Amino acid sequence: MASSRAVTEAANALELPRGHEELVRGLWRAARAQRLAHFLLFTGPAGSGKWLAARWLAAGLMCARGPGEPCGACGPCRRVAVGSHADLLVLDPLAAEVERIPVAWVSGGDDAPGEWIENFLALKSAEGGWRIVLLREAERMAHGQNHAQNALLKTLEEPAPGTLLVLETSRPDRLLPTIQSRAHVLACAAPGAAVTREVLAAHGHAGARAELAARWSRGAPGAALELLARSAPESRAILFDVLRGARRAGEVQQELWELELELRAGTERARDRERAAWLLAQAHALLHDAWRAGSGAPLDALVHGDLGASLAAAWPARRAALAERRLLELAQACVDIGSNLAPEQALERGLAALAE
Ligand SMILES: [Zn+2]
Repeated sequence: MASSRAVTEAANALELPRGHEELVRGLWRAARAQRLAHFLLFTGPAGSGKWLAARWLAAGLMCARGPGEPCGACGPCRRVAVGSHADLLVLDPLAAEVERIPVAWVSGGDDAPGEWIENFLALKSAEGGWRIVLLREAERMAHGQNHAQNALLKTLEEPAPGTLLVLETSRPDRLLPTIQSRAHVLACAAPGAAVTREVLAAHGHAGARAELAARWSRGAPGAALELLARSAPESRAILFDVLRGARRAGEVQQELWELELELRAGTERARDRERAAWLLAQAHALLHDAWRAGSGAPLDALVHGDLGASLAAAWPARRAALAERRLLELAQACVDIGSNLAPEQALERGLAALAE
C-alpha cells in the first residue's frame, strides 16, 4: 500500500477540515469526558471534507497535548503526519487502488495487508493511548456471507476499551442497516462556495477556472479540486461546442482524450475506462442542463447555468423528447464501458449522442 499517493495522503493527515472544525472539536470534548463512541461513521457528499475530518480527529486524539487540535510538533503528531504511528491504521482503497475492499482487510487471510482491522483493534496500544482505524470509502465493502461488511459486524460486537473505528462514505445507503444503526453518524455537509473558493486559492487556483469549479462543485472543496485536476473547464468548453453544433464530434474526440486528467486507477486499461466514464458523465450533465434550460428551468438552479442563454438555445424545448433518448444513450455508453465496449468507442458513441 506504499504508493506515492499513499504518501501524499499521509502528508494531509493534519490538514484542517474546512467547515467541519466544530464537529471534530465536539468529538475531542467527548473524548476528554470519556464519552466518545467506539464506532463513528462520517457521511456527506463527495469532496465535502469528511475524510479530512476523520484524519484530523485521529491526529488530535493521538497528539501528546490532546484530545484537541493536533499541535503538529509533538512525537505522535509527527508520526501521524508521516503515516508511521503504530496505533493508527489508515485503510485507503483509493491509495491501494482496490475497487472492492476485500474481507481480508477486516478479518485477515490470504490477501490481507500487513495489518487488518480485527487484529489491529484487538492488540494493545503501542504508545499507551488510543488505538484507531480509519477506513475510507467504506461503501467499497461488499456484504453477504464472507464479505467485508459482515465480517465488520463481528468486530463491532465487543469493542475493546480505548479503540476507535471510523468509517467514511458518501454512500451510507450501501452499508448494511445493522452497521449504520451501530455507528454514531456524523454528517459533513458541503461547506459552501466561500470556503471552496478559499481552499482553491490556498491550492493556487484563482480566476475564471477556479470560479467555475467552485460553482460546479456545489460547495464541496474536494470536488472542486478534482474538477480542476481533471480539466473540467476545458472539457466542458469542447463538449458544449459539440452540443451546440459549433464543432463536429469526430473533430474533438482526440483532443478530449488527450486532456490532462488526474486518474486513480492503477493500470493503463483501467485508466482509459475511468477517463471515458468521466468524460461521458460530463457530457451527460451538460446535456441534462441544456435540456432543462431549454424547457424553461431557471439558469441559477443548473450547474452549467453560467453558460447563460446559449445553454437554453443549445437544446430548444421542441427537442425535449429527443433529449431523454440521448441522455439514455449517454448513460448506456457509460455502463457498456464495463462490459463489451472499448473506452474510446464508448466516448465516440457518447459524443454522437451529444451532437446535433
Ligand atoms: Zn501534537
